[in-house]
Amino acid sequence: MSYILITGGTGYIGSHTCLQLIQAGYTPVILDNFINSKPAVLQRITQLSGQTPIMIEGDIRHRPTLEKIFKQYPIEGVIHFAGLKAVGESVQKPIEYYENNVAGTLTLLEAMQQAQVKRIIFSSSATVYGDPASVPIRESFPTLSATNPYGQSKLMIERILQDVAHVSPDWSITLLRYFNPVGAHPSGLMGEDPQGIPNNLTPYITQVAIGRREQLSVFGNDYPTPDGTGVRDYIHVMDLADGHVAALKHKFSEAGVHIYNLGTGRGYSVLEVLKAFEKACGHSIRYQLSPRRAGDIAECWSDASKAATELHWQAQRSLDDMAQDCWRWQTENPQGYPDNV
Ligand code: NAD
Ligand code: UDP
Repeated sequence: MSYILITGGTGYIGSHTCLQLIQAGYTPVILDNFINSKPAVLQRITQLSGQTPIMIEGDIRHRPTLEKIFKQYPIEGVIHFAGLKAVGESVQKPIEYYENNVAGTLTLLEAMQQAQVKRIIFSSSATVYGDPASVPIRESFPTLSATNPYGQSKLMIERILQDVAHVSPDWSITLLRYFNPVGAHPSGLMGEDPQGIPNNLTPYITQVAIGRREQLSVFGNDYPTPDGTGVRDYIHVMDLADGHVAALKHKFSEAGVHIYNLGTGRGYSVLEVLKAFEKACGHSIRYQLSPRRAGDIAECWSDASKAATELHWQAQRSLDDMAQDCWRWQTENPQGYPDNV
C-alpha cells in the first residue's frame, strides 16, 4: 500500500495513470482543482478498478493543503501532472502559466522538503528539445529555449528540479518527457475531454468525424517529410500510464536525476493519423490543406531505447489501437464527461 500523491490526477494522463497505479498495487492520493477536469472521472476510475481513489479538491499553490495531505497520509513520493498545458493560451496568459506551473511546482517542492518527501516524477515534454538538429531524439540532446511560455515553464521546472538534486543528492527526481499522448482507455469509459476548440490533432479529428466540427485543417503540406505533413511520435495514453508505473518501480528508490523519453520510437504524419482514424470510424473525414501553424516543427520522434533498457518499458499499442480507442471514447461520450455525477 504505497501512497503516492498524484497532482493533476483527474486530468487526461493523470486519470489513466491512477488506474494503472491502483492495478499495480499503489494507493494514489489525488490533488486536483478541476480547472481542466471533472469529478465524473473518479466514478470511472472506481468502476474500472473497483477502488475509489482518495481525492482532495485543492490547488498545488495552496501550501496548507499540501501540508495537510503530507500529515494525513504516509506519502512516499509524488507524480506531478498538475499544470496548464495549452500552448496558444500560454502566449496570451504568460503570468497565469508561469504562476500555475512554475510557482505551483515551487510550493509543492517546499511542502515536500518540509515533509521530508524526496521522490518526484515530473511530467515534462518533448517540447524541451525545441527544433532538434536530427531525429530520433535522444535524452542527451540539448534542451532549447521554447517559443512559448508553456514550453518555457517545462524547461524552468526541469532546471529547478536539477538544481534541487544538485544540493540534495538524496532526492530521486525523474523527468519524463512525453511525446504526443493520444488514445483512451479501451473500455470507452475514460479519455481526453478537451474544453472548447481542441488544439491537438486527434481530438480535433474525432470531433470532425462525429460531426461536431466541419473539417480538419492540416497545418502545412510542404514540410521535408515523406508526404509533406508534420511527423510526430504518437503514444497511447495507456502506454504512457504504464511508463509511470515502470518509473516508480525502477527509479523511485534511486537517488539522482533520471531522464526518459516516453514515446514509441516512430513517427506518423498528419495524413497517416487521419487515415487510421478513418479506418477506425468507418468513413472519410473532411479536411483541407492549410498554411503551416506558427511554431510547428517538421518532425519530432523519440529514441525510446533508454526507457526500454532502464525502465524495462516499451510502448505496446499501435496507431490503430489509439484511433479505435479514441473513437470508442468519442462515440460513447460525445460531450466528454458529464458535469454532474
Ligand atoms: P490535463 O489538463 O488533462 O491535466 C492536468 C490536471 O491538472 C487537470 O486535471 C487540472 O485540473 C489540474 N490542475 C491544473 N492546475 C492545477 C493546480 N494549480 N492545482 C491543482 N490541480 C491543477 O493535462 P494532461 O494532458 O493530463 O497533462 C498532464 C501533464 O502532462 C501536464 O503537466 C502537461 O503539461 C504534461 N504534458 C502533457 C502533454 C499532452 O499532450 N497531453 C504532453 C507533454 C506533457
Ligand atoms: N495539426 C494539424 N491540424 C490540427 C492540429 C494539429 O494539422 O488541427 C498537426 C500539427 O501541425 C502537428 C501535428 O498535427 O504536425 C500534431 O499537433 P498537436 O498540436 O497535436 O501536437 P504538437 O506536436 O504540436 O504538440
